[in-house]
Amino acid sequence: MKVLDAALRGSMVEEQLIPRGINDRRVLEAMRKVPRHLFVPGSSLENAYSDCPLPIGERQTISQPFMVALMTQSLGLSGGERVLEIGTGSGYQAAVLAELAKEVYSIDRYADLAKNAETVLGKLAYTNIRIKAGDGTEGWEEFAPFDAIIVTAGTPSIPQPLIDQLAQGGRLVVPVGGPLSQVLTLASKENSSVAQEEICGCVFVPLVGKYGWKQD
Ligand code: SAH
Repeated sequence: MKVLDAALRGSMVEEQLIPRGINDRRVLEAMRKVPRHLFVPGSSLENAYSDCPLPIGERQTISQPFMVALMTQSLGLSGGERVLEIGTGSGYQAAVLAELAKEVYSIDRYADLAKNAETVLGKLAYTNIRIKAGDGTEGWEEFAPFDAIIVTAGTPSIPQPLIDQLAQGGRLVVPVGGPLSQVLTLASKENSSVAQEEICGCVFVPLVGKYGWKQD
């Protein structure tokens, strides 16, 4: 089992990530290491490493491996950062972030998803991830500012509390657009002004909350 899942991760990196431009060595290393299959309940081993998003319950999905790697690479993490994730889902993205940054804070609107993610991450002995259930569009004021923020659900516009809770020099990656498709957007905060860059088109489940969509 151990050998097989490591081999599947190796192929995932070689076939799905490197050819599409993921070149941050630390990101590739994290993608080789984190056991994605443990975050996808009821999926076959092969399926867990396939090139697509997969259902995780509550009509939500774990993102395609490439999208996880691309969003993570966009944050440019070097190891000392405090990161906020909105949309814990399975906890997989949080684990990848925990390999690359100092502290990870992650919020999901569904308490059962937050709880499941906490259980899996606990079993894997991650000690630098804190999870809570709640409306992530309001950020997590108690631990702000964050050097990096990643939103793994689609929003009509960037929630203002997230911009406010981003540190100077910080980066925020977020899918912005309509309910059916969005543009993956990288926002950077320098001297209190926020510059935005478009990365690519993408499809995410809706970010539902006070500063996102009002309902799914
Ligand atoms: N990053 C996850 C995938 C997330 S899917 C993973 O690695 O598996 C998007 C998640 O965003 C869903 O779990 C959904 O419940 C959550 N979500 C949607 N709106 C939210 C909000 N306002 N606050 C927190 N989480 C939210």
